[in-house]
Amino acid sequence: MTSARNLLDLQEFDRRLAEQRDAYRKTATELKAEAGLPALRAETESARVKALETRVHHSRLLAEVTALRERLQQIESRLYSGTITNMRELTALQEEQNAAKRNFATAEEAVSPAATASQEANQLYEAKKAELAKREEEWKVREAALRSENHALARDYKLLERERNSTASHVKDADLAAYNSILKRKEGLAVVRVERGICQCPRRLKLPLREIAKLKDSEALVTCSSCGRILLAT
Ligand SMILES: [Zn+2]
Repeated sequence: MTSARNLLDLQEFDRRLAEQRDAYRKTATELKAEAGLPALRAETESARVKALETRVHHSRLLAEVTALRERLQQIESRLYSGTITNMRELTALQEEQNAAKRNFATAEEAVSPAATASQEANQLYEAKKAELAKREEEWKVREAALRSENHALARDYKLLERERNSTASHVKDADLAAYNSILKRKEGLAVVRVERGICQCPRRLKLPLREIAKLKDSEALVTCSSCGRILLAT
């Protein structure tokens, strides 16, 4: 009887300990996930690189346009200087002028889309950066709360565990072993009360009279012949 009662207390401790372990695991998982910040940090970094690349590309194009304009001007100033009288040289220079014009036009056409792309990439980066900063701030607050919650859970767990072990120390080793084994097999419910001759297990089984009589007389643990759990008379 006393043993069964202690085991019922023990079962309650074990239930609460399991709950605390779950809560601890939950907060630990949330802490580890960092509210998805690692992914956002990576996205922000790649947006930064992309913004830099498009800016460099735009700058290069601008420099190229300047160089091609100068080259075209050089060709044209030679062409119209009046110093070239050789027909073949003149034709060659005209061809060079045409090629330079085409190159210049091609480069110039690419400038505007590159400027737009650079601007857009920069806007995207700025937006990501702002979002990251905001979320980092929010996470700081949440993380502090989670850490203190975890700390409290760990402290409470130790206290509860001490109480549990103290209760367990009053139970015979054999009874404790039986309890642990049933607890594992019966999903955390090893000890059940008997009320009005009915085992209070999830299936609410009616006990035979001889079993109830045995429960009243016996000092040793009595297990339910139907569900196999330790019975406690009330
Ligand atoms: Zn039962």
